[in-house]
Amino acid sequence: MDVEQMKALIRDVPDFPEPGVVFKDITPLLADELAFSTVIDLIVVHFGRGNVDKVVGIEARGFILASPVAYHFGAGFVPVRKKDKLPWETEAAEYALEYGTATLEIHRDAVAPGERVLIVDDVLATGGTAKATADLVERIGGEVVGISCLIELDFLAGRGQLDGYDLFTLINC
Ligand code: AMP
Repeated sequence: MDVEQMKALIRDVPDFPEPGVVFKDITPLLADELAFSTVIDLIVVHFGRGNVDKVVGIEARGFILASPVAYHFGAGFVPVRKKDKLPWETEAAEYALEYGTATLEIHRDAVAPGERVLIVDDVLATGGTAKATADLVERIGGEVVGISCLIELDFLAGRGQLDGYDLFTLINC
């Protein structure tokens, strides 16, 4: 399966969740057994077994991709969630959205000092979510070895926020 075939399994949904946004719906890709396994394999091959201790998934679609990646690495899985969802002591990062702000949280003890962490999400848009997550991981002592997003929205230039990180994306739109 090549990139164009994977791209064909992403559904553009105009004006969702609000007018003016074209939502990248990855459910057709997730439902395709070959596409789903290819995406996971490409991420695992890029970063390499033995190089990652924890895989951080960003709520909610990031969880779906991060979990099988963690399994293949023999690494642990760590959730980063929206404000007030995690039950234990958290570290929080506020970041800018197009209108207003949002807050992400991680459990303070989710990553041990010096552990090598890969961050996984579905879509890289402005990059604010990925950057806030990298900040959280570093604040609790983790070393970010990379960031992987299935889709990169080139026109929003989110990559520019993530200078210095190994950013691996599979499909550019
Ligand atoms: P950003 O912080 O702007 O990079 O936004 C990335 C986060 O918002 C990811 O967790 C995505 O799941 C979600 N997101 C942003 N834009 C879209 C889009 N056009 N389609 C689907 N999800 C999106």
